Amino acid sequence: MSAAIAGFAHLASGKVRDLYAPEGRDDALLLVASDRVSAYDVVLPTPIPGKGAMLTALTRWWLARFPDVPNALLDDESSVPDAVRDRSMLVRRLDMHPVECVVRGVVTGSGYAEYVERGSISGVRLPQGLQEGDLLPEPIFTPAFKAAQGDHDENIAFDRVVELVGGPAAEALRATSLDVFRRAAEVAGARGLLLADTKLEFGAAGDGGIVLADEVLTSDSSRYWDADAYAEGRRGVSFDKQIVRDWLRAHWDGTGAPPRLPDEVVARTADRYRELLDRLAAAD
Ligand code: ATP
Ligand code: MG
Repeated sequence: MSAAIAGFAHLASGKVRDLYAPEGRDDALLLVASDRVSAYDVVLPTPIPGKGAMLTALTRWWLARFPDVPNALLDDESSVPDAVRDRSMLVRRLDMHPVECVVRGVVTGSGYAEYVERGSISGVRLPQGLQEGDLLPEPIFTPAFKAAQGDHDENIAFDRVVELVGGPAAEALRATSLDVFRRAAEVAGARGLLLADTKLEFGAAGDGGIVLADEVLTSDSSRYWDADAYAEGRRGVSFDKQIVRDWLRAHWDGTGAPPRLPDEVVARTADRYRELLDRLAAAD
């Protein structure tokens, strides 16, 4: 699943990323984004060529837009081998807060299902009568507990975040997540993209502060929709693996091993990821 990298020890692999530690150093991590694609919480047997590099480029592009938000990227990445450079980030190794900091500008996906059932998402009460894909009056913070590998993340109310990380850190997670989301939505909006939602992760800084870590505003962690299509009433025209999800739903019942993706689905998905990066970065 993960190749050996000279000078680094493999620590763990998530569904998409492989984690390495630089030999002889315990304060840093190498996050290597693979081309693996997951859907419905399983990794598919077919990679999407270039995906790891595109997600890494997206994270770096966004981090550069938030110079005032402390992040985990290290200044000196010269030790990263060329072979994995385009899909790697050398980061400060942090004690991660076990909270997925989800912000939603739109009610969709699992959030919409929870809203239908309870009238709220992660304990945040919402107006009645919202339809799937409706814009919320303002973005909301809907945290989830980051489950151990293999388990599903579970939406939690803000009080539970306070119990998990303490009051000051919980407040900081919420305020910073909302701030990053609002600013990112504005940047995306200027490029014809509607940022529907995103998931951020933070670590503890040591001095009580929080540090933005993991992937940031990538198409794996966020839903971007085409703003023109949305304005025309076509919702969910997205720049992520929706093509993969749709194909899987039509060709797989969710039991047993997932099937290989046809070349055409792979190519269209890769194009979609590429288009997002092009649209964001083109206006620079
Ligand atoms: P999934 O397979 O559902 O994506 P995952 O999110 O746990 O699971 P990956 O995203 O593939 O796995 O791997 C990245 C892991 O590295 C995450 O657990 C994330 O919390 C952790 N991580 C990211 N940045 C840092 C950091 N600076 N310090 C410590 N851990 C980090
Ligand atoms: Mg992850």
